[in-house]
Amino acid sequence: MTIERPALTVETDVLVIGGGMAAAWAAIGAAQAGAEVALVDKGFLGTSGVTATGGPNHWWVPPDPAERAAAVERRHASSLGLAERSWMHAILETTWRNLPRLEGYYPFAADGSGRTYYSGVRGPEYMRALRRYAEDLGVRILDHHPALELLLHQDGSVAGAAGYARLDRRDWSARAGAVVLATGGCAFRSGLLGSYNNTGDGHLMAAEAGAELSGMEFSVSYSLSPVWASTRTLPYTAARFYDADGAPLDIPPPGAGAAHLQGLARALEAGPVYADLEDAPEALRPILRRIQPATPPPFERRGLDLFKDRFQVALFGEGTIRGVGGLRIAGEACETTVTGLYAAGDTATRELVTGAISGGGSLNSAWALTSGLIAGEAAAGRTARDGRRADGAAHPAGRAGLRPAKSARSVDGRAAITLAGTQILEPTKALWRKAATLDASRLLLGDLWREIADHAGGEAGLPAIAAREAVAVTAMARWCTAAALARAESRGIHQRADAPATDPTLAKRLLVGGLDTVWTRFEAFASAEAAA
Ligand SMILES: Cc1cc2nc3c(=O)[nH]c(=O)nc-3n(C[C@H](O)[C@H](O)[C@H](O)COP(=O)(O)OP(=O)(O)OC[C@H]3O[C@@H](n4cnc5c(N)ncnc54)[C@H](O)[C@@H]3O)c2cc1C
Repeated sequence: MTIERPALTVETDVLVIGGGMAAAWAAIGAAQAGAEVALVDKGFLGTSGVTATGGPNHWWVPPDPAERAAAVERRHASSLGLAERSWMHAILETTWRNLPRLEGYYPFAADGSGRTYYSGVRGPEYMRALRRYAEDLGVRILDHHPALELLLHQDGSVAGAAGYARLDRRDWSARAGAVVLATGGCAFRSGLLGSYNNTGDGHLMAAEAGAELSGMEFSVSYSLSPVWASTRTLPYTAARFYDADGAPLDIPPPGAGAAHLQGLARALEAGPVYADLEDAPEALRPILRRIQPATPPPFERRGLDLFKDRFQVALFGEGTIRGVGGLRIAGEACETTVTGLYAAGDTATRELVTGAISGGGSLNSAWALTSGLIAGEAAAGRTARDGRRADGAAHPAGRAGLRPAKSARSVDGRAAITLAGTQILEPTKALWRKAATLDASRLLLGDLWREIADHAGGEAGLPAIAAREAVAVTAMARWCTAAALARAESRGIHQRADAPATDPTLAKRLLVGGLDTVWTRFEAFASAEAAA
């Protein structure tokens, strides 16, 4: 028998929801601005989220105006019209100034030329450093406290959040003057390393409060990994590929973008694919463990030398993690379209800095750091200005999975996640998008949504967490599908087999939102820059 304890209530200036690098930087930003901060994570701040398992590199260019301008121009050109130079400069500058502040918390190495090497860090130690930094600034960290829903004031602004503490077995609710959502992107439970908690919960909560999303069509991204375990991508840059009979496969290199993934997907459809990393640079071998500590162990456990032995590979979907879309950023303070609600990291759209192509590799981390700091500081400023407003009534915004529209009855959440995830992750659907298949997914996901919105939930505690995850994954799949249908062209990582050209008139951001009824709308201009 489970004994439930009395609910925990928290009152604070700023509430940060999430426990990855964006959440940690947001908490740090808010605390440095003088706010009292509480952070709630579904997992444990330090080991949860996709940074914790990786070896993230940050976009890193010295503050030389010419060098910075050249780097921004190069990257802006590949954004296919959707990024903004001012945001790109902002993430370069903020990262340059703030990453070195972890000195004393993170053991930065030398760069080989007498300087400190800041930009590339080992994920587990980086997250531990961020946790200790946040703790030293007085941030109250509540691990294993997943948020289930937002609380709203009568005027629709955000009043806090509520959830369930899964180890303490009690409900919690928090009132705050402002809330930062940093719950990461959504990998649709593909098995991608570190992404189990990334089910789009923050997007769902925000949408229930009326927030808009942007760039959800840019949701096609995969990691190549050994078939038995998702690892990081580094060693595959020099891979040669073979079929089960040992015949070489002609697969375009990773630099070919969509063509590389399409080549792999075609080969995987025909049968098992084996990777051979014998051609990997010699210099990589001794340092791989230092850069990507989670990559060698799955090979070692099987007695394989990853640079000598061929091994079978598979694609693990990354959804919106190394895809691009997320909550629409409505201004320079990383505010969403809901008053009092800010977004950071992968929960937010990264179109502002990466446009239509993935920001994985360095921009995403610079964005997570910067958007975290900006959102945290802005949330602190808002509370300093308007107060916590904790006296008035606040109503819970959560619907599907918590308060079914019709009768509550058992809905298989796992099956819902698999069904919804397949619509986004299945390589043949994702890498050769077509109106007909997208429309079939739209209808199927609409039926699934109706079933879970009408009937899922009604149970408290751990089942409520699972129900909300199923709801969030389904909502994310619907937004991605609707956006992919609406963008009837190919641009960046969104490739339409039935519209292979890039349409110059569609160099604009595509907004999406809604729960029972999903809507899409192109913005009038590609960016604030284009509008100016
Ligand atoms: C294979 C791979 C390699 C990558 N390499 C790089 C790289 O080299 N450089 C780069 O720039 N980017 C890289 N990225 C991207 C980068 O890892 C992400 O952009 C970054 O981790 C985003 O941080 P985040 O805090 O937004 O999300 P995450 O790190 O995913 O954190 C999300 C957090 O939210 C919590 N959460 C979720 N739901 C709830 C809830 N309901 N309540 C409370 N908490 C919740 C989770 O527990 C987790 O702690 C890579 C990504 C992948 C997949």
